[in-house]
Amino acid sequence: MIPFNKPYLTGKEAHYLYQAVLSGKISGDGIFTKKCHSFFEERYGFQKSLLTTSCTDALEMAAILVNIEPGDEVIAPSYTFVSTVNAFVLRGAKIVFVDCLPDHPNMDVSQIEALITKKTKVIIPVHYAGIACDMAGIMDLAAKYGLFVVEDAAQAIDSYFNGKPLGSIGHLAGFSFHETKNIISGEGGMLAINDSGMTERAEIIREKGTNRSQFFRGEVDKYSWVDIGSSFLPSDIIAAFLFAQLEHLEDIQGKRKEIWNLYEKELRPLSVYGVQLPYFPEYAVNNAHMFYLVCNSIDERTSLIQLLRDNGILSVFHYLSLHKSTFYSEKHDGRDLPETDRYADCLVRLPLFYELETEQIFKITDVILGFYHNRFSA
Ligand SMILES: *Cc1c(COP(=O)(O)O)cnc(C)c1O
Repeated sequence: MIPFNKPYLTGKEAHYLYQAVLSGKISGDGIFTKKCHSFFEERYGFQKSLLTTSCTDALEMAAILVNIEPGDEVIAPSYTFVSTVNAFVLRGAKIVFVDCLPDHPNMDVSQIEALITKKTKVIIPVHYAGIACDMAGIMDLAAKYGLFVVEDAAQAIDSYFNGKPLGSIGHLAGFSFHETKNIISGEGGMLAINDSGMTERAEIIREKGTNRSQFFRGEVDKYSWVDIGSSFLPSDIIAAFLFAQLEHLEDIQGKRKEIWNLYEKELRPLSVYGVQLPYFPEYAVNNAHMFYLVCNSIDERTSLIQLLRDNGILSVFHYLSLHKSTFYSEKHDGRDLPETDRYADCLVRLPLFYELETEQIFKITDVILGFYHNRFSA
């Protein structure tokens, strides 16, 4: 079976884990955590980077940092992972869902302004497949109405909007290092803070509501309970693993882009059959997080996934519409989100991992091309 994903190890992970253990300090904010923070701040220009145990946790920190109170409204896509919005629902927010673009699963920024009310506090762009949302449009709306922007950059490492790194544009951004992402630590994440006024409080929230980070830096002579918070920081063992990956970021990205480009070259002709392929607005670049196709119908997708499986290839669909979920459908304001539903029904993701071999890619694309030639030549 060709799996959908296979976590890639650079070879240095175990060595750095060992070093972390030998350092004698394996709780949070040890030497490897600091190395990771510096890497991100220097390479991507985040004002402050804080490792967390997941992107979910980074988003939960963001919801606390922007002071979400019961009844506050948050504008977010419905075609996304649960955590994007659950983090805000935990603090009492009401989610106002925006539909996707017709040519891309990212949020349709032209629909946002009509959804803004006096209660709106945050816009959450999700950079689907690592492809940038229209951050200029979103930041303009945020400035006009005094809103916060929290980027869900879980899939968006090493991707850019008009040359600016994703995660460095909104007030806050969450990244994920879950084993399904480009750069991994098993579970893991990061909060990027671009509003320097939030840094001190972010450190406190991450350390159970205490000012322990300041204490360790010698800025205060004892630490105490100063705010709400939780235990959001990962062990330095996680950071050691992550640092091994970061050292190979160029290599990992280069390899993933090669695979992605081969898929694109082989499968672009399918557009004559109405199959929708990844689309890049001129402001976006490709970080090769994902290769997807959007089929013409759910039946077509089901048949394609089955045929791939019969040929030993695991392809998977993606999100179900959150506005129709068991938990939120009753709370949703009832608007139809047709593009969201279409991606939920028709989008399929193909295997994409470092060790995927060229002949495996050709095997996958041959099955898909054969499927469409048969289907449309009848
Ligand atoms: C993976 C992902 C998350 C969750 O990341 P975790 O690190 O597993 O918490 C959130 N949002 C999006 C868009 C994701 O792809």
